[in-house]
Amino acid sequence: MSQPELRQDPITGIWVIVSEGRGDRPDKFARPNGHVTLPNHDPKCYFCPGNEHLTPPEVEAYRDSNNSSVWWTRTVPNKFPALSLEARADQNLLIKDGMFIRTGGYGNHEVIIEDPLHNRDIPERPSDLIREMWWMLRDRLTYNHSKGLENVVVFKNKGEEAGASAEHPHSQLAASFTHLQQLSKEIEGSQRYFSLDNFMDKKRQCVYCDMVHQELEKGVRIIAENPYFIAFLPFASRVPFETWLVPRNHKSDYTLITSEEATSLADVTKKVFQKLRGVLKDFDYNMVLHSTPLNTGVQESYHYHIEIIPRTTKIAGFELGAGTYINTISPERAALHLNSYR
Ligand SMILES: [Zn+2]
Ligand SMILES: [Zn+2]
Ligand SMILES: [Zn+2]
Repeated sequence: MSQPELRQDPITGIWVIVSEGRGDRPDKFARPNGHVTLPNHDPKCYFCPGNEHLTPPEVEAYRDSNNSSVWWTRTVPNKFPALSLEARADQNLLIKDGMFIRTGGYGNHEVIIEDPLHNRDIPERPSDLIREMWWMLRDRLTYNHSKGLENVVVFKNKGEEAGASAEHPHSQLAASFTHLQQLSKEIEGSQRYFSLDNFMDKKRQCVYCDMVHQELEKGVRIIAENPYFIAFLPFASRVPFETWLVPRNHKSDYTLITSEEATSLADVTKKVFQKLRGVLKDFDYNMVLHSTPLNTGVQESYHYHIEIIPRTTKIAGFELGAGTYINTISPERAALHLNSYR
């Protein structure tokens, strides 16, 4: 693709410019120094086994038995929470300050320690342990919903470029009673799409289901699939090698994932990260899980999914000022390149 092209995300309405530099090779996105070598245990790390006393008291852990000190996945409250369950409930009221509105920071902020090994991120981790991470996230979403926190987003920052403050593999969960911007934007967009009932003679349909259908039909952006999930690079990818994991069958609420589906999700996650690792080497990334908020009545129009956003380029003035992303490799070309790694 030599001419620049504008592409619109059918969910959020966000426009992306796909503009491939002349002669750019897909492997220019790889980190030049290859793998960063970390020890498998760091005595100074708060998240390494043996240092459990350095984190706030754990809220959930998977271990051999209740008394065992051996765990493989562990959740603790964030030591420096962005939102807190301790903020008083009556602080939920919106307070007007002239033209401005504010409210108390009632919510929750948890850290999920994904692995006992300091240096074992998703690409190196066995599938059954990746499954435990996904299962723990199901537990934590369920718990936070039970606290009346309707909006929950799980995110992972891996590496400095992605904003990580700790090396040890971990994810974070933020739960809020107010809207979380990106989640709200997706929900509004998918409702808009759903209500276009006579559009092109089609019946009411979920935008994600339609996308899964079209991606399977065209096949040019798919990088992994199995009985329950497909992984593809979205049509309007914001950054090079952006990848989404989407359940094939419609499901809005991630907490309803079955045991079999979680195993399948771990399998597709592993396949995707192995391909990304093949091309991008030791890349930094963000990963996000979006699931339906409680009490929104969007079970038919919204579809849970996971977004992987490799951080091989910087977000710069154009993105901030224009709100439009410039992606320098088309998702079709990126997918072709990833699929050459098996
Ligand atoms: Zn560690
Ligand atoms: Zn759907
Ligand atoms: Zn999303």
